[in-house]
Amino acid sequence: MREAILAGLEQEYAQKRAANEREEAKRRQLIAERYPDIRELTQQREQMIFGSLRQILDHNAGKTDLPGQMAALSEKIRKALRDHGLPENYLEPIYSCKKCRDTGWYGEPVRKMCTCMEEAYRNKLHEEIGLAGTGRETFEAFDPSLFDDTIPLEGYGMSQRSLMNLVRKLCEQWADSYPEARSQDVLINGMSGLGKTFLLRAMAQRLYERGKDVLLTDAYRMLSMMRKSYFEDGEEEPEELVKADILMIDDVGSEPLFQNVTVEQLLHMINLRRDSGKSTIMSTNLSMKEFRERYTERIASRMTDPTLCMVITLKGKDLREKVRKP
Ligand SMILES: [Zn+2]
Repeated sequence: MREAILAGLEQEYAQKRAANEREEAKRRQLIAERYPDIRELTQQREQMIFGSLRQILDHNAGKTDLPGQMAALSEKIRKALRDHGLPENYLEPIYSCKKCRDTGWYGEPVRKMCTCMEEAYRNKLHEEIGLAGTGRETFEAFDPSLFDDTIPLEGYGMSQRSLMNLVRKLCEQWADSYPEARSQDVLINGMSGLGKTFLLRAMAQRLYERGKDVLLTDAYRMLSMMRKSYFEDGEEEPEELVKADILMIDDVGSEPLFQNVTVEQLLHMINLRRDSGKSTIMSTNLSMKEFRERYTERIASRMTDPTLCMVITLKGKDLREKVRKP
């Protein structure tokens, strides 16, 4: 994934350079056609550059003040441009980034990636991983005070806040210790508004920061990827879903079901991933009973096998009304 992003960026930068060169040529043409006085000055400058080369070749350099004359001529050109109501740098090379001159790299002899390309790379990677726009959902930003601490949850003997503190710890530990995590897979279930998406994104963010190959998606997007690869590309599963070391699928059960396709593909994908030692993390609003009914016993038993999967069930009050909008 990372090499493909870099290759794509190199291509983008080449296109940017070509576009800027086209714009420069257009400007020179416009000047040549409409502003003969400026054209005259630029031609003088070209001749001067040519003349200075000849002087160097003839060992006559240094006899006249060429740099001074060049600077004076350049200033004349800038003034003429201003007089015609054009920007004074109208005829200078156009760079979207001056530091790297739109190559994405700078420095001699060791080439360093320019900050502009670094940023583009980070954004693209974030997008591909599914983390674009999710910067706020981190373990550091987890706020236990949002959860009720007064009523013990039925069947848990602890408040929602204590439960969430525990769950947060489990999820953070998993993300910190992967690939040595306590389970290969994770399934987080519970009603909507209990913080499942937050937990998934926080895990994805931490795994990303640790340089792990994580892909975060939701069930709906997963389904459209699956349908596309199945019906259009003639492949069983989308490569990126099988390849990622850690695949996180948010909101499983929200996607429409298509005549066995979903279930068969999902099962096949989970098996493939498990057999190759890759981790799958899912969240779902469905109860375990509903999960079983929807995805068949075969999938349910794989995703709830206690030797392979950590199942976390959230309970409590819907948070969405309480969370402050950014
Ligand atoms: Zn740059």
